[in-house]
Amino acid sequence: MTDSNQEYIVISGARENNLKEVSLRIPKRKITIFTGVSGSGKSSIVFDTIAAESTRLLNENFSMFVRNFLPRVPQPDADAIENLSMAVIVDQKRLGGGSHSTMGTITDISPILRLLFSRAGQPHVGPAHMFSFNDPQGMCPECNGLGRSLVVDMKMAIDMSKSIKEGAILLPDYKANSFDLSMLIESGTFDIDKKLSDYSKDELNELLYGKARKVEVQFMSKAMNVTVEGCIEKFTNKYIRRDIKTMSERTQKAVMPYIIEGVCSSCHGARLSQATLSSKINGYNIADLAAMEVGQLIRVVREIDSPVAASIIKALTDRLQHLVDIGLDYLTLDRETDTLSGGESQRVKMVKHLSGSLVDVTYIFDEPSVGLHPRDVHRLNELLLKLRDKGNTVIVVEHDPDVIKVADHIVDVGPLAGSRGGNIVFEGSFPGLLQSGTLTGDHMKRPLQLKQACRQPNGKLSINNATLHNLNNVSVDIPTSVLTVVTGVAGSGKSTLINDVFLSSHTDAIVIDQSAIGVSSRSNPATYTGIMDDVRKAFASANKVNQGLFSFNSKGACENCGGQGVISIDLSFLDSVDLPCEVCGGRRFKEEVLVYKLNGKSIADVLEMTVEQALEFFELKEVVRKLQALSDVGLTYITLGQPMSTLSGGECQRIKLASELHKKGSIYVMDEPTTGLHMSDIGHLLEIMNRLVDAGNTVIVIEHNLEVISQADWLIDMGPDGGSKGGQVVFEGTPTDIIHAERSITGKYLRS
Ligand code: ADP
Ligand code: ADP
Ligand code: ZN
Ligand code: ZN
Repeated sequence: MTDSNQEYIVISGARENNLKEVSLRIPKRKITIFTGVSGSGKSSIVFDTIAAESTRLLNENFSMFVRNFLPRVPQPDADAIENLSMAVIVDQKRLGGGSHSTMGTITDISPILRLLFSRAGQPHVGPAHMFSFNDPQGMCPECNGLGRSLVVDMKMAIDMSKSIKEGAILLPDYKANSFDLSMLIESGTFDIDKKLSDYSKDELNELLYGKARKVEVQFMSKAMNVTVEGCIEKFTNKYIRRDIKTMSERTQKAVMPYIIEGVCSSCHGARLSQATLSSKINGYNIADLAAMEVGQLIRVVREIDSPVAASIIKALTDRLQHLVDIGLDYLTLDRETDTLSGGESQRVKMVKHLSGSLVDVTYIFDEPSVGLHPRDVHRLNELLLKLRDKGNTVIVVEHDPDVIKVADHIVDVGPLAGSRGGNIVFEGSFPGLLQSGTLTGDHMKRPLQLKQACRQPNGKLSINNATLHNLNNVSVDIPTSVLTVVTGVAGSGKSTLINDVFLSSHTDAIVIDQSAIGVSSRSNPATYTGIMDDVRKAFASANKVNQGLFSFNSKGACENCGGQGVISIDLSFLDSVDLPCEVCGGRRFKEEVLVYKLNGKSIADVLEMTVEQALEFFELKEVVRKLQALSDVGLTYITLGQPMSTLSGGECQRIKLASELHKKGSIYVMDEPTTGLHMSDIGHLLEIMNRLVDAGNTVIVIEHNLEVISQADWLIDMGPDGGSKGGQVVFEGTPTDIIHAERSITGKYLRS
């Protein structure tokens, strides 16, 4: 007889962070979803207890010798954790890696594509590694496989609104009365009175890039032969293809303003040598395929008829299908991974695991629905189900009701945040959750209300003819003094429109995104918001000592850890690990400093207070205002001294929001501010946005969350689909109007 406990991961008496002796059983080879308000303790169970113990067990498998080099991961604070299998954590940390890391390399699809060309490419050029831009034989010699090199900055070099005579060519060699300009005019090959914008494509090409040729010109009543060459081509040959360091300093100074880093002119960004690029399959070379959107690529690969490569084609289409399944069909294999968003990064990592052959693994996901439009959430669900059906245990921290619905088992953590959380308030099925009476259960039952009384704008900010990435000549007005929500499926062009195009001409806008606020490893909510400065002053004047003592990068700091409270251990082949400082026990200060008190509390006591406790403790006006702002964005539960690095992307975003709240008359741009927020916290966030608008600000939010969308004054819906099938504005108007908009996918989901 088997012990039925073998079918569960069993946790008893877990006490990490705010957990109150949590005991629970997580079914193996099933999908379990953890939900609950932000700060209730989901991560403390899933990451700090389950994942931490799994890592510790994994390390114990190594020999004593190897273990000496591994960090001693402390045992999680719990009575027992049993039946764990190896855990793989798929989080939203962005994929770094520089320009040599692409979608193709990170998903292991590139090697298969290279193998395909080495078997089926015509002409047959050689072994598979020849097709790699990381290989000396395969890489473009001009840019060393980077795809980018120095090129002429066309904005600086050419003024399309002028004629040649009016000075359309701005390059230094073509100044008024210069030899080059005189020759160009005398040669009679171009219309010197026509604006360049009126030139035909061929004429312009000849003027800019025409190959050198001899022309007879009349100069000072004598016939002479001169060489005419496209002005950009000439500049490139004369200054860029030569080693710039061999030129005089004066020349360097004169030409540098016209040179920028751009797409390599030899391989046009393909990164590969000409020999490699000449090998083709069905008319496409390997760079053509890498630059194709995955959705189209999979069709092209399926059409390849090559018996010798049949198994390679199968392996390739299987992997590409995973990318399509997870809603990344709008990406290309040559896309550099450091340009992917957090949600996209997480989904790319997921694909890597789906193609792998590991079984009986515990997969842990952190809000995988981030960045996904309601239309695409079902694809994520299918992937989670696939992982489970391969025999794995799937644990997901998630707030999205459409994901929660597919769970085999739901754990609701609460009832509230911080010290008022840390309990399991519900365990069971989805119908059970709806009846449970918990915050989560109750919010799931609430119907969506569409905003009726939308605010009237007092002006507009225009975007004209935007063409970056997939934008299809987009012109759109953003109304001022209202709440505008920009929606659309992933890859439709929301971030490109707002973060890249709009913000490039509105640099005064206040941007609140999820990027980590890692100013320094010492920063925490108190230092970031400026509360620390006021607190130090208060301690100094209460004790009649220098305020510098109370700073943890001063002489008051613990000498062992330099005021960090932790000792960071760097390992070349693993992430670095922080262990608590043995001297100060994580309190960061010397004993001499801790004897100074303010109303009975030491500086370390203050840093251990939650925002909520600090609000009760302090009466200083400035401190209270800043604490209130943190509380307003739902961060009552964080402690003042909690290192910024322990905060999630969503929490970072809300700290930024809190410290910008008091500015008036500004433009605010927020990128998915509901990330990490439980349904019951979203009402709170909306209140803050509305307060900002009521104070005269313009608020622009990129968001998929239907509750936020339904409460906008104005919606801009991008689409209709992702990538090349997107890039248009499909709807502009109010929430009550979008549900009638035929082309809007967002409208369709709001309706249902
Ligand atoms: P959730 O995942 O539900 O948002 P967490 O498990 O992250 O909640 O947090 C639960 C509580 O524990 C919160 O009060 C949080 O501030 C606190 N906490 C989380 N991580 C740390 C940490 N590294 N140090 C101190 N407190 C922490
Ligand atoms: P959304 O914000 O709606 O998810 P994005 O603006 O991120 O969409 O993407 C729109 C299109 O532009 C997609 O096809 C995407 O792959 C492409 N894109 C976005 N950022 C980059 C980049 N840095 N380099 C190349 N293509 C990009
Ligand atoms: Zn090149
Ligand atoms: Zn210390």
